[in-house]
Order: sequence, then C-alpha cells, then structure tokens
Amino acid sequence: MLWCWRCKMDVPMLDEEEFKKAKELYSLAFKNGISDRLGRYKLLLNYYYNLTGLEETEPNAIMHHEIALYGPPCENCGKPYRTPLATFCAACGYKRK
Ligand SMILES: [Zn+2]
Ligand SMILES: [Zn+2]
Repeated sequence: MLWCWRCKMDVPMLDEEEFKKAKELYSLAFKNGISDRLGRYKLLLNYYYNLTGLEETEPNAIMHHEIALYGPPCENCGKPYRTPLATFCAACGYKRK
C-alpha cells in the first residue's frame, strides 16, 4: 500500500512483474472489440482484484499504480515522493536532502 497523489488515497501498488502483466491486459483490452468499457477491461480489473483484493473500476488508475513510478517515503510526512528523482515533497513541501 502506498499513497497515490493522483487518486488521493492509499492504493495497492504493483511491482515490476505484476505491472508488466497488467500492461499486457490493458493493451489486450484495446483489441478485444467489446464496446462496454468495463467488459473490455474485465481481465485487467479481475487481475488487479486477485492481486490486491481491491475492486478497482477505473482501468486508467491501475496503469499508474506501478511502484517504480514513485519515490521513497518523504522523511517529513511519510508520503512517497511523486517520482524517484523528485527533489521536494509535493504533499508537504519538504526539501529532500
Ligand atoms: Zn492512483
Ligand atoms: Zn512530505
């Protein structure tokens, strides 16, 4: 679980392997021709649910829940930096050393 600044809540993040698989399912969804949006992304949403136990309904949210996109936790507020290379914390303004 990690704080996601886009969703403004704690979400389960995917590691490299899990995210690779999720990306495959995401791109498959473009090809399967199902017009219903949730139907199209069902495989991806089910996969995420099996991994995390969270019933996500927004496929695009899953696509930014890759742990590698985020930095380590801020020394001041504990929320993760927005990127691994961020120089300050966007949540509390703390300047990273
Ligand atoms: Zn998010
Ligand atoms: Zn902070």
